[in-house]
Amino acid sequence: MDKTELAARKSIIQAALSMNSMGINQGTSGNVSVRYGNRMLITPSGVPYEELDPKDICASEITKDGKTWQGDLAPSSEWRFHLDIYKARPDVGAVVHTHSMYATVMAICGKPIPAVHYMVAASGGTEIRVAKYATYGTEQLSKNALEALEGRTCCLLKNHGVIATGPNIKRALWLASEVETVARQYHLALTIGGGDIIPDDEMNRIIAKFKAYGPLAKPAAAPLKKPAKRTKAKKSPF
Ligand code: 13P
Ligand code: ZN
Repeated sequence: MDKTELAARKSIIQAALSMNSMGINQGTSGNVSVRYGNRMLITPSGVPYEELDPKDICASEITKDGKTWQGDLAPSSEWRFHLDIYKARPDVGAVVHTHSMYATVMAICGKPIPAVHYMVAASGGTEIRVAKYATYGTEQLSKNALEALEGRTCCLLKNHGVIATGPNIKRALWLASEVETVARQYHLALTIGGGDIIPDDEMNRIIAKFKAYGPLAKPAAAPLKKPAKRTKAKKSPF
């Protein structure tokens, strides 16, 4: 394993630990993956994140439908939707799945999260959709999730949890946390009457603005390329 792959594996473990320390997941629930060249690296199934070592991260070629697993442990039971997201969405470099409390409560009630806050725009749409129910770990769940993710960066899974994606793991984790915050705000608003919804035209302006907001920075982890030839830096206009 080269240094960059080791770093990508460590970033998965770090993100998995952060989901729990941030309070957006608990125990062995949830899973995390990154696109690494033409492979997907993903957390193993049912292993407490504190016990994970980089060698425990499972790997599979993205185009081979999970038939090329490398690693000693079984991959996350949700490998199918992680893999299908990478296949269908070249813009996605990382996927974070959580069972965060308030977002899962919305998912249990089958309530999409409307534009109660402008942060809903981080989903890429005017509401955070709920994917139809299917048994965890199934191809049907993957199909339902992809449908709900059409043109979106995140969704809820009926009676289950959250999927958040991003060009990199930092962004996907950030989004998973924002989904939980807005779900909590919506829940509290519902308890005192429901609040107001931001109109679509305003949301569409915010969605456009959001393309440049938040931790977008670096692309997903990828195998080392030959460093580009250094050119003299342009003088800053500022
Ligand atoms: P895994 O431990 O197999 O990743 O399962 C956790 C989960 O959230 C299933 O939906
Ligand atoms: Zn789950």
